[in-house]
Amino acid sequence: MHCFPKFESMDIQEISSAQKAFFKTHKTKSIKFRKMYLEKLKEIITQNEELLYKAIEKDFGKSRFDTFTTELSFVLKDIDYYIKNLKTLSKPQKVSTNLANQIGKSLIYPEPLGCILVIGAWNYPYQLSLSPLVAALAAGNCCILKPSEIAENTMEAMAKIINENFPSEYVYVYKGGINETTDLLKLRFDKIFFTGSTKIGKIVYKAAAENLTPVTLELGGKSPVIITKEANLEVSAKRIVWGKFLNAGQTCVAPDYLVIEESVKEQFLEMLRKYIKEFKYEPGSEQYTRIINQRNFQRLIQLIQKDKVYFGGNYSEEKLYIEPTILTDIEWKDPVMEEEIFGPILPVISFTHYNQMINTITELEKPLAAYLFTNNPEEKEIFKQKISFGGGCINDVVMHLSNDHLPFGGVGNSGIGHYHGKYGFETFSHQKSILERVTWGEPNIKYPPYSDKKLKW
Ligand code: NAD
Repeated sequence: MHCFPKFESMDIQEISSAQKAFFKTHKTKSIKFRKMYLEKLKEIITQNEELLYKAIEKDFGKSRFDTFTTELSFVLKDIDYYIKNLKTLSKPQKVSTNLANQIGKSLIYPEPLGCILVIGAWNYPYQLSLSPLVAALAAGNCCILKPSEIAENTMEAMAKIINENFPSEYVYVYKGGINETTDLLKLRFDKIFFTGSTKIGKIVYKAAAENLTPVTLELGGKSPVIITKEANLEVSAKRIVWGKFLNAGQTCVAPDYLVIEESVKEQFLEMLRKYIKEFKYEPGSEQYTRIINQRNFQRLIQLIQKDKVYFGGNYSEEKLYIEPTILTDIEWKDPVMEEEIFGPILPVISFTHYNQMINTITELEKPLAAYLFTNNPEEKEIFKQKISFGGGCINDVVMHLSNDHLPFGGVGNSGIGHYHGKYGFETFSHQKSILERVTWGEPNIKYPPYSDKKLKW
């Protein structure tokens, strides 16, 4: 039987009730109030950067450069975006009014949902906890944030800086693991925003259904990267090595496996090897992150089929490092192709018929991301038309999520809903429709008594 650590002593039920009461004061609806606290969040992140860097370094050895570029800068950029655009995003939108409702006007009012629960994942602990929080607050909600206990130091750091600076009836960071999350899920929220695995996403979805609570589920999946002989191989190799081994492969949108046209395979594998060395992606180097814990480490090393290692394959159990590893001659039915890898192991499958390979991918669960490297317009078109996936790139990997004009989220098994930029604001808002009529000049057509004459009108 598992023994789960006890994290929190504050009564979460009390905090949840206090947030409900606070929301009813309507204070969070004022633009001034929202801006003030978004500014405050920016200030405390900036002032505590050192604390945040140290915590993540302790959790899994993530460098300051990676932490800033893939986590903190994202959150700070989100805050700036919402501060700048809050007035426009919150403004009622006037739409046209149909003939039957003349004379009248029709408006859509974005309204905060109320009290939000955000449940974060450990792999980008700041970005995946704080970015949804920022969007929830920008939209005028109260929020309880439950970061992942797997990255314990970052969870502690976020709880410290937020709980010391925000009133708990508005925002509260609740520290906890499975027990605490299970307790939270028994409470009634106006929205649950969850980032994590498909398996736990289903638990969250079931619990939310009890209260008809809407959810956004940001989940994972096996995201393919396809390279054809018409790709710029050098650029493709460089971008793929970066996107796959960034954060030691512990990235939800990292290419999970690589599918390459047989005729260019050998040449391409050599380029992958070259860039892994050039980027100094090696255990112990500043660029290279550790595996988060023993459990994931043990799961990952089981996937390294020794006779298929083209590059890497070494690891240190004591230091929780796994070398960037490329497995070649992989087949669709191999164990490494069963579940999302979520680590620095890249299986390579080759193909000879593009359409056939695309059809095989469409038989699998819909992934969070998909990537294609080619300069052939027809291949691009087939990729876009036939494969269903959350979002992706042509001739790049991962970077689509850095463009806030694109909604970010999954489809099917990889998630429900999306966020980033204006989509984040909408995710935490209800679109309230109001038709306002004048009280004069109304035709009698809709009122009884009915007649054939009225029907023909
Ligand atoms: P996870 O599903 O194990 O945990 C996520 C959260 O759920 C944590 O806060 C955890 O405390 C909580 N949790 C765990 N077990 C629970 C239970 N039985 N009941 C209630 N709550 C529980 O996921 P993880 O290991 O933190 O993250 C890895 C997964 O997340 C991967 O599949 C990855 O692809 C996915 N992910 C998706 C995105 C995205 O934006 N779509 C981002 C990062 C990670």
